[in-house]
Amino acid sequence: MSENVLNVEEPKRSLNFIEQAVENDLKEGKNNGRVQTRFPPEPNGYLHIGHAKAICIDFGIAQEYKGVCNLRFDDTNPVKEDVEYVDSIKEDIEWLGYKWENVYYASDYFGKLWDFAVQLIKEGKAYIDEQSAEEIAKQKGTPTQAGVNSPYRDRPIEESLDLFNKMNEGVLEEGSMVLRAKIDMASPNMHFRDPIIYRIIKHPHHRTGNKWQAYPMYDFAHGQCDYFEGVTHSLCTLEFEVHRPLYDWFIDQLASDDYRPHQYEFNKLQFTYTLLSKRNLRRMVEERILTGWDDPRMPTLVGFRRRGYTPEAIHNLIDRIGYTKYDGVIDIGLLEYAVREDLNKRVNRVSAVLNPVKLVITNYPEGQTEKMEAQNNPEDESAGTHHVLFSRELFIERDDFMEDAPKKYFRLTPGNEVRLKNAYIVKCTGCKKDEDGNVTEVYAEYDDQTKSGMPQSSRKVKGTIHWVSTEDCFDAEVRLYDRLFMVENPADDGRDIIELLNPDSLKVLQGCKMESYLKDAKAGDKFQFQRTGYFCVDRDSTADNMVFNRTVSLKDSWAKAKDK
Ligand code: ATP
Ligand code: MG
Repeated sequence: MSENVLNVEEPKRSLNFIEQAVENDLKEGKNNGRVQTRFPPEPNGYLHIGHAKAICIDFGIAQEYKGVCNLRFDDTNPVKEDVEYVDSIKEDIEWLGYKWENVYYASDYFGKLWDFAVQLIKEGKAYIDEQSAEEIAKQKGTPTQAGVNSPYRDRPIEESLDLFNKMNEGVLEEGSMVLRAKIDMASPNMHFRDPIIYRIIKHPHHRTGNKWQAYPMYDFAHGQCDYFEGVTHSLCTLEFEVHRPLYDWFIDQLASDDYRPHQYEFNKLQFTYTLLSKRNLRRMVEERILTGWDDPRMPTLVGFRRRGYTPEAIHNLIDRIGYTKYDGVIDIGLLEYAVREDLNKRVNRVSAVLNPVKLVITNYPEGQTEKMEAQNNPEDESAGTHHVLFSRELFIERDDFMEDAPKKYFRLTPGNEVRLKNAYIVKCTGCKKDEDGNVTEVYAEYDDQTKSGMPQSSRKVKGTIHWVSTEDCFDAEVRLYDRLFMVENPADDGRDIIELLNPDSLKVLQGCKMESYLKDAKAGDKFQFQRTGYFCVDRDSTADNMVFNRTVSLKDSWAKAKDK
């Protein structure tokens, strides 16, 4: 699968700004022609579709320019991090079809980062501040107003060195002191106003245990890790653009040669009707609003996978939207379109009746059955055919019958003809109802000269409906998933996200009638339920109760709703 993903033939497109930068560097012979990138997730949650965009450029650039891409876990905050996430991140990257060269951890460099911090203290470029986080924040100033120097700013080097060691000995409380770089409290770039570079965290680390009590901040770790590893192009999202001068400053203090990693920023992926931050996603899991990180409504890669989305669809979408220098929100319909487009090409068509009512073909001999041939995929001749059983009693969708139908109703209504897919043309003759007026059976007569494939079968009728034989079907559960949020931009709404949830994001149907061909399907197998949508087998399936997830409906019902 992974090879398919990476070898898809793509129409030639123009280079994005990152590819242009890499090509310029190669032309100028920078870094001895080396291209090295990294994907640097923090293992504090499962990856979401936004991360896929970062993965595609990090690994994609390395592939395109025959370079190296490493996986580096940015594990500088033990409180939120866990090996469960490390494992899932690796699986997701492989699912997207990529392979890292090496796996590194920021925690691999804690020793080197410590030594560098000590060097800065010795050079008078860092000091221990004993003020609280609030006091420090108050002194930061504003972009137009200089900050105020900390009273500890000029404390003797020896004292800072001694306290820095104490920070790591476990004898001090969290928040009692921090190490700050001594740069410029009047800098127009707020990140230069003596940024905090080390803090005390008394929580065991998933890899280093209790070895460290003082942990480097993101800004003090990221660029230096890039430097230690030999990264040439460090790609991240736009919010880090303002951090770049500090990234460069630290490396300038550290570097003993001319080599410099360089940071490039691209736009974050954001979708309508979707929230992508791990903080929000974790809340959905912790408050049990959803069933877990892989709930099929989650925008996580595990959720997408369970829902039936494919890596190919994700690649196609990301190629289409590209990488730019300005943020924007992408219509979630584009992702759904990419999923439909991909599944249309490769999944088999089957019949499943979600809301069944019985159809009796009154002139079809009792006890007789016929094997009908069903084409697996009209888009792909090589997918072949399979057999479906036809009999006197069938299940059809309740919606496909109406006793008093409006003029343009081309399905079953007394006097009207429809084609039963892959079988005969039938004419509706009436129905039976219970005391409450609910239709319990629909009646029709078939024309035995109209079997699909017969010469007469070219007779045209306006409607075709799907069906399954009562003799050759089984009951299953179907989970109809829809968008999780009702509003287009949940991130900017202002209301609590709980209030924005779509109450119909999951509808569970029981007793759906599946053609028996589906009986052997395994978790993850994908199909098109004719006229309904794309579905896949859920991992909750058991021998007695198969469960199907709706991946995406055949048509975009939201676009229609919006036009009204
Ligand atoms: P979140 O805010 O969702 O928790 P994060 O940025 O904190 O995400 P990290 O694990 O730190 O998550 O991110 C790893 C990489 O993925 C970073 O380079 C980050 O810039 C990138 N990334 C995160 N979210 C997106 C997104 N929505 N679009 C593109 N890239 C993203
Ligand atoms: Mg983060």
